[in-house]
Amino acid sequence: MPIATDRATDATTGRDKRRRAARWTTFAVALTVGIGAGVAWAATTDNIHPTANNTGTCHNDPDGGDGQISCRTDNAAVSYYMDSGGEYELESPDRTAVQSTMSNDYGPTDLTISYDSSPVFSGDAETDIVYQEGSTNLSDSSDGVTWCNDAVDGSSYGCDQQYIRIRGAGYYSRGLSCHETGHAIGLVHGQQASPRLTNTNTALGCMVTPVGDGVGLGANNRDNINSVF
Ligand SMILES: [Zn+2]
Repeated sequence: MPIATDRATDATTGRDKRRRAARWTTFAVALTVGIGAGVAWAATTDNIHPTANNTGTCHNDPDGGDGQISCRTDNAAVSYYMDSGGEYELESPDRTAVQSTMSNDYGPTDLTISYDSSPVFSGDAETDIVYQEGSTNLSDSSDGVTWCNDAVDGSSYGCDQQYIRIRGAGYYSRGLSCHETGHAIGLVHGQQASPRLTNTNTALGCMVTPVGDGVGLGANNRDNINSVF
């Protein structure tokens, strides 16, 4: 029965401090490479963690997160699993929404996306993103949340496994799935970007908040992802 909603919001906000010089160095390199390869650098703002306005070390979050994004997926090979059976099962339309953002938004980036039908929940090679449908520990103002449950030891930002939980009964959409997946990859809101943008600036693609049902990743997010992975 899922009905599209365009009032998706989440509770993720910016945080902490560290490592900007390194980021700008990375950007400069990416810019040079982009021009050399004949690829335009379209990014309006740096919105992949860490930014000058969103710094801090990745840590294990409580179930439902702590309201901050301080991690990013630990490498370019991103495996995901959608809960099948049990309390947090994704129904068919929810699964379609996730698959839509994976094929239309993240598949075309430099990330390598794969579905993991035999998810791994411990050890050094866990399934990277686990999608759940549910509202446990979501604040009333949140339609979805992303959190890390296995920060990589010795890494400033890397998380080996992240959970995404989105409310049931129609909240799963390509746009919101794209948004929460973006947080798992490391993307932040406009107010945590550098330079800061309003959280509704359309340059942010699906990282605007609130996000519409059909909103895709967009060039700014894609270029930021490809600058890091
Ligand atoms: Zn968000």
